[in-house]
Amino acid sequence: MKDVKNAYDVIVVGSGFAGLAAAIEAREAGARVVVLEKMKAVGGNSAISDGGVAAAGTDLQEKHGFKDSPELMYRDMMKAGLGINHPRLAREVAERSNEAFRWSVDHLGVEYMDRVDHFGGHSVHRCYTAAGRTGATIIKKQVEKLKELGVEIRLGVYLKTFVQDPDGRVCGVEVREGYDYRDPEAGVDEVLRARKAVVLATGGFGSDLPFRSVQDPRLTAQVDTTNKPFATAQALKEALRLGAAPIHLSHIQLGPWTSPDERGFGDGPVFADYIVFLYGIIVDPATGRRFVNELGDRKAVSDAILAAGHPCIGIADEAPVKAQGWDLSRALDKGVVRKFGDLKELAAAYGVPADELTAAVEIFNGCVVKGKDEEFGKPILPDAAPLARPPYYTMRLWPKVHYTMGGVGIDINARVIDLDLKPIPGLFAAGEVTGGIHGACRLGSCAITECLVFGRIAGKNAAVSSELQA
Ligand SMILES: Cc1cc2nc3c(=O)[nH]c(=O)nc-3n(C[C@H](O)[C@H](O)[C@H](O)COP(=O)(O)OP(=O)(O)OC[C@H]3O[C@@H](n4cnc5c(N)ncnc54)[C@H](O)[C@@H]3O)c2cc1C
Repeated sequence: MKDVKNAYDVIVVGSGFAGLAAAIEAREAGARVVVLEKMKAVGGNSAISDGGVAAAGTDLQEKHGFKDSPELMYRDMMKAGLGINHPRLAREVAERSNEAFRWSVDHLGVEYMDRVDHFGGHSVHRCYTAAGRTGATIIKKQVEKLKELGVEIRLGVYLKTFVQDPDGRVCGVEVREGYDYRDPEAGVDEVLRARKAVVLATGGFGSDLPFRSVQDPRLTAQVDTTNKPFATAQALKEALRLGAAPIHLSHIQLGPWTSPDERGFGDGPVFADYIVFLYGIIVDPATGRRFVNELGDRKAVSDAILAAGHPCIGIADEAPVKAQGWDLSRALDKGVVRKFGDLKELAAAYGVPADELTAAVEIFNGCVVKGKDEEFGKPILPDAAPLARPPYYTMRLWPKVHYTMGGVGIDINARVIDLDLKPIPGLFAAGEVTGGIHGACRLGSCAITECLVFGRIAGKNAAVSSELQA
């Protein structure tokens, strides 16, 4: 190996939830660890996420009176994933979800809001929201833990490629130190040696236009994304060049709760996801009618909106807006969420046939009273009420690329597998760069759970990699 200046036991690439969880576990297992991050700040997409974590069988569920089990969570994940999820991986996430959630609270000190939410495709309330409704709350605690453990996070260090022993074992990485995405000439190349293993935790490729659109040609530049620009497939491609098995790369998730009236993730999704989908309705402005179970999984709702061919309107009344207590001021100021005194005014603003809209609301209200949505099968929540308390709040909905279900194949030990389904010695992976766990559609809040579960597995196993590979 050329120019070996620095040697570590475990090199973790990527500083999101998965990479930092791996680094903590590897260090606690006794390894000398470094985290490499190409950007000038830690956290990746994790830091801008909503901080929603799904876990089954928690104390918080018990406190709020919700019954759940890992088996039910597993079945929900498989149903949303259209059954193509890799069952052992999905089961591992569900079975370890509570342990990962507890680890974040007890070991890292993460604070969560005292609420349990029911997101689309889950069959019960099982989603917890980190304080401040941001993943940055979790990242901050992970970084603090790594500081306490003496693990260095090296920023502006870009993984160029993997280095292998003559026998094929991944024994290091070639990096660009001082990387600056605006200047291809910036920085110097360096080789870092990994005595035990490399953990790949470089996230998804939602912002990689050429790569995502060759996997799914519908996802052209016309389709916006919630991801940061650094979410590219470059590191994933390096792993594929090394011989990693590609899994489910064309399964790319669109978030149904985004607005065409703002860029990126924006301020609207909190209204759509926590209020409209739970308690309100979505109507097609062309017909004034509902057309989908608003609490369906993301694929079901996004596909239905796309099939309408134009943005659709999410509607809720004052009751859940008040009861849920989210701050909608930014979304309202931007005009992403709008407010109307009555349904007529609302219909006129969007060019929706007013009589049809009124009829649709009446039918829905009847479903709420009966506790059963016979039209679309939306679960009517125990605290749902008819849409009858103006003002009415609205948001235009149009899906954006949000999450990439595909990536490198891993086994239950987070070892990256090759095309013959054998582990590539010395290489582990976790988080959005991996494929298989979520199948055709990831359920909301299951990404953070997955990053924590498999990040921890990858870190622990990377620290004892030589024994595991033997
Ligand atoms: C706006 C938004 C909101 C979301 N909200 C939720 C939510 O509430 N709940 C939920 O479960 N999921 C949510 N998700 C999805 C979830 O946040 C991500 O799937 C998850 O954070 C991915 O974590 P990760 O560790 O795999 O990757 P990331 O957090 O993306 O981290 C990967 C890191 O690797 C770095 N990197 C990439 N390539 C290289 C390289 N070559 N060299 C060095 N470093 C490299 C990147 O710069 C990045 O910092 C959300 C996503 C978005 C975009």
